[in-house]
Parts: sequence; C-alpha cells; structure tokens
Amino acid sequence: MKFDVVIAGGGFAGAYCARTLSRAWGPNAGRRVGLIADQNILVFQPMLAEVAGAALSPLSVVNPLREFCGHSNVLRGKIRDIQLEEHRIVLDAGVYTSNISIEFNHLVIALGGIVDLSRVPGMPEHGLILKNVGDALNLRRTLIHRLEEANLANSPDVIRRLLTFVVVGGGYSGVETAGQILDLIADVKALYQNLRSFSSRVVLVHSGPFLLPDIGERLGRYAEEQLRARGLEVRLNSRVTAITATKAVIDNGECIETCCVVSTIGNAPHPLVTSLAKRYSLPQLKGRLVTEPTMQIKGHPNVWSIGDCAAIPVGDQPSCPPTAQYALRQGTQLAKNLERVFLGDELLPFRFTNLGQLASIGHRTAVADVLGFQFSGFLAWWFWRTVYMAKLPGVERKIQVIAAWTLDLFFRRDISLISLDPSQTLPEAHLEQGDFLFHPGDPAGSIYLIKSGTIEVHQGDIVIRKLGIGEVLAEPTWANENGWRYGAVATSPSTVVALNSKVRETLSQFTPAFRQLFQLASTGESSETSSPKP
Ligand SMILES: Cc1cc2nc3c(=O)[nH]c(=O)nc-3n(C[C@H](O)[C@H](O)[C@H](O)COP(=O)(O)OP(=O)(O)OC[C@H]3O[C@@H](n4cnc5c(N)ncnc54)[C@H](O)[C@@H]3O)c2cc1C
Repeated sequence: MKFDVVIAGGGFAGAYCARTLSRAWGPNAGRRVGLIADQNILVFQPMLAEVAGAALSPLSVVNPLREFCGHSNVLRGKIRDIQLEEHRIVLDAGVYTSNISIEFNHLVIALGGIVDLSRVPGMPEHGLILKNVGDALNLRRTLIHRLEEANLANSPDVIRRLLTFVVVGGGYSGVETAGQILDLIADVKALYQNLRSFSSRVVLVHSGPFLLPDIGERLGRYAEEQLRARGLEVRLNSRVTAITATKAVIDNGECIETCCVVSTIGNAPHPLVTSLAKRYSLPQLKGRLVTEPTMQIKGHPNVWSIGDCAAIPVGDQPSCPPTAQYALRQGTQLAKNLERVFLGDELLPFRFTNLGQLASIGHRTAVADVLGFQFSGFLAWWFWRTVYMAKLPGVERKIQVIAAWTLDLFFRRDISLISLDPSQTLPEAHLEQGDFLFHPGDPAGSIYLIKSGTIEVHQGDIVIRKLGIGEVLAEPTWANENGWRYGAVATSPSTVVALNSKVRETLSQFTPAFRQLFQLASTGESSETSSPKP
C-alpha cells in the first residue's frame, strides 16, 4: 500500500488532519490518505474522568475513526518502525498481518505521548492511570470494587483503607478525577448498608503551591476551596515518593493507608518518536519533535508532526501547549498545508490564539478562564458542558451525552460491574479425529499443551512426532518466520490449551521452571518420537 499522505496516530491531531483532507479530496482520499492508529476509535480524553466516575458510558466518549475520517483509508495496527529514508512504515496488526509495510510520499507524525510511571517506586505496579477508555473503565471498576469489598470487610482498619482514595497530580486530570470520585461516592455510598457509619477519604497530592497551575492561582484556589468544602483533603507542595498495595508515602513523611492510587502525572515522550529522533538526528524539545511554523520537520520537507508529540512554535512561544484544543487545530491547518503542497502553493504557518481553559471540579461546579475572563461555579459548569458538547464529534454522541447528563440530574450513577474476564482464562480448542490443529504455513503464534487426546506432527506422509496428554507442541524449531513448517492433526478426539507468546513471556519472566519448560518445549526434547527427525 502506498499513499500520498500517511498519518501516524488517530488522536485529535491525526483524526482532524485525515478528516479535513478527506473533505478536500472526496472519494479520492481513500487512495491518497492512510491513517494508521492502534485503535479504531477517536477518544475524547477530556471526558474520561466522567467515565471513571460512572457519570458517562464509555461509548459516549469515543467515535469510530472510519466514520469520523470520511473517505480516508483507516488502517488499524501498531506501528513498529518508521523508516524515513525508505519512506516506509512497518506495522503489526495481528496474527495474519504482523509485518505490513505502508509507503508514503508525505508522513504526518501524530503519535501523542505516553505515561511513564517508573519515576515513583511502586507506581507502575499499583498506580492507576487515565489515558484511555480502558484506563477509565479500570478506574471505575476499581472504585466500585473497593466499595463492595469494604462493605464485606470485618476490620475497621481495612474498611478505612479500602475507603481511602489518593489522586496524584493537581492539574486538569487530577482535579477532575478527584471531583468525580467525590461525586461517585457521595452518590452511591448509601447503597452499601454496612458502610453507613464509615466515612471515605479522597486525598489529592499536588507538587505545586496551588491547584490547576495552567489556569491561574485565583481559580486554582477557588477550585481547592470548593473541593475542600466537599471533603477533599489537599496536600500542596508535596510529592508521592512510593506506592505499595496498601499505602502511599508522601515526601512530608505522611503515609496514607490506601488500596487505590490514581496517577495523573508522568506524561512522557512516545518511544517511537524518541527512537526516530535519535536515528535521524531530528531536533527535540522536551522529547517533542521540533517543527517549522509550517509543521514540517527541518531538513525533511515530506515529514510533518502535530499534536502532543510535536513542538510547533506559535507566536513568541517555542512550542504550543500539549492540549486537545491545539492538537485538533494543528490537524486541520496541516491538512490545508498538505493540500497546498500538492497544488504548489506557499505554505502557511500555524496560527491559533488560545481561547481559554475550563475544568470541571464536580458537583455541578467548574472553573473557567475564557478570553481572559475568569469565572466559576454553576455558570462555569454549564459553559463547560456546552463547550464540550459542541466539540464532541458526531450528532449521535452528542445526543447520547445530553441524555446521560440529563439522567444524571435525576438518578443515581450506575454501579453495575460487568466482568470483562472471560470464564476460560486460557483459550482451549477441541479437535475431532482427523482435524488439523495447524497446516504448514499457518501463523505460528502459540504453543499448545495437550489436555486430552493425541496429536501427530507430520511433514507430508512422514510422521515427525506423536504427542499425548500433558505434552507440549512447541513452536520455535517447528516454525520459522513463514509460520509452521509442519502440519499437526488430531489422531483421536483431543483438546489443546493455547499459550500465546504474551503468556509464555510473562510466565518465563517469573519462574525458571517455566522458562526451562518452554526452552525444552522449543527444542522438542520432551516428547517421544515415533519416527526419526527429518
Ligand atoms: C484524562 C485527560 C484529560 C484531558 N483533558 C483535556 C482538556 O480538558 N482539554 C484539553 O485541551 N486537553 C485535554 N487533554 C489533553 C489532550 O487529550 C491531548 O492534548 C490530545 O489528546 C493530544 O492529541 P494527539 O492527537 O496529539 O495525541 P493522542 O490523542 O494521544 O493520540 C495519539 C494517537 O496515536 C496512536 N498511537 C500511539 N502509538 C501508536 C503506535 N505505536 N501505533 C499506532 N498508533 C499509535 C494512539 O492510539 C492515538 O490514536 C486531556 C488528556 C487526558 C489524558
């Protein structure tokens, strides 16, 4: 596949760029524009805290990229490598599409950033984050689980620990998340009969002297006052130094007993962007790719970058702030510049004046700084909702969110917990006698443990090995980059358990016994052979 423009990343920046090009090029965009993203949805991140607080359904905050980006060709896959000189991207999209090459004339890098929790010991293992819909659902599930468990616990100390929630970071995400946790607990705690005499705690730990530093001290202090009035404990000028399964340690010496820590800090550059910059000596500013005002990368006229992974100069600032407000405008304006490239017109620099900042702090209250005018309270909250409603892509989503917000005025939040864990932890496959487990050339992603029956590995008419209950059908010596070299067929009704590479890697990391087993399995030493090896 080759496109005039390949956009790497389907967040605000990439999706708006594809959508604008699609509108300009019409049905031709299907051939000319490829948008690569590892999920097929555009996530409206500013509303994730509401999903975590059970105020909105997850489907209300996402849009299918295929609908949003019109005629552009959406390619769902994980980018593994970007080769600027070869004008090529390599992506992995699944078992049958693990090594797909996409060529481009122009490349737009819009990969956003990642969350790196490694700076705080214990945070990667125990901290919850809020970056994606999965994270928001995980946080919602954890909050409700803690209430359910506290309702059953015997020890008052354990109950208090389960009812203590710590949020790290006093920026937009942290403040909005803390507000949502307060709202959720206030709304549903009465449903837990055994918790009526226990109070909950929500603690917000922030390293700065006031909350919401991007919006200014006055509104930051107002937000703090409002949240404190609703029971939030705020620790300013403080940092969390370690997390365990049962506590959060703060640098002022305090140790908070808790089983739920949410981290809204730790934004870090995307590793693909970092390695690309290193390999091609691309200029960076705090891990973001430095571009010209036209959004082109210096020395690479066909490579562009936008959104959180780009440092695009604007006015007298060396870089735009990493916000959705900027990312979507950069996407739209870059699409116009790309049109100009193909028309041979002069390129335009990125221009945008920040319209202001808004943050919802829960309890139908928000703080706003719009065009230099600062206000707060219910009016700001109403304004916040109106602005986000206008920005939410798609009429269907707008209606869903209006309905959810209206219901929220009259009804309790929904604490239904739907288990996403499949009842079978490892996938199993049943085969009747004569059924093939795999044919030569099939993708070799898993190895198999035989739970019952017998399996024969063969090459044409030659039987290479017969395996029975408890034996392992190993992958590496029997497979190469083209897949399985041999076929495997059930010689009696059989059931096999599949261990994919992820499971094997995880087990091997922890236990030498598993590592040995998989090595043994991979050399095929554990099985009896019925005929000589070829
Ligand atoms: C909880 C939260 C609340 C926020 N609230 C606000 C707010 O109120 N106002 C505001 O202006 N901003 C807010 N932001 C910031 C805003 O969401 C970001 O600035 C914006 O999303 C950046 O857009 P982007 O397109 O650059 O990156 P992203 O939206 O992060 O998109 C990156 C895209 O790249 C894809 N991708 C990444 N790696 C790969 C790979 N290897 N292969 C394929 N695809 C890949 C991702 O799937 C995604 O589609 C918030 C962010 C968060 C997390």
